[in-house]
Amino acid sequence: MGDGEDMAGAIKNMKPALYLDIDGVLLANEENLAIGAAEFIKYAADNFDVYWLTTHCMDGTTGHAIEYLQRGSDEDLRPWLEKFKPVTWSLKKTEAIDFTKPFLWFDDDCFSGEKIDLHEHGVFNSWIEVNLAKYPDQMVHELKLLKSIVEEG
Ligand SMILES: [Mg+2]
Repeated sequence: MGDGEDMAGAIKNMKPALYLDIDGVLLANEENLAIGAAEFIKYAADNFDVYWLTTHCMDGTTGHAIEYLQRGSDEDLRPWLEKFKPVTWSLKKTEAIDFTKPFLWFDDDCFSGEKIDLHEHGVFNSWIEVNLAKYPDQMVHELKLLKSIVEEG
């Protein structure tokens, strides 16, 4: 480890990638962001490598996902949403996950085939189950999780 910059780079590489679903995670419903989601989006975009993992972005293009999410916000979140990276998948979201690196996947639904993939890679705990019906302000708490990861670094 040569100098401070190398160290900073190494620490950054230890941070998990974030994979984000939209419906039931960032959006509470088609018209409204989840409580705390705007702050979560900004902090995630500013501090992590973030990937869309949603049916609104399966083909590697992000425009639809950005506008779909933006409809739920009075504030213009596009500068942050445009930092989120696209992925491609067809049947299972786990097709899009890079299992060679640490990650956190925020999703309200994880199907059996996806659960099997997570178990096979020994990373079932990387799925953060979001349940806004039960915990409407869950994303406020997930933001605290992100901050704790950055502060630990
Ligand atoms: Mg969902």
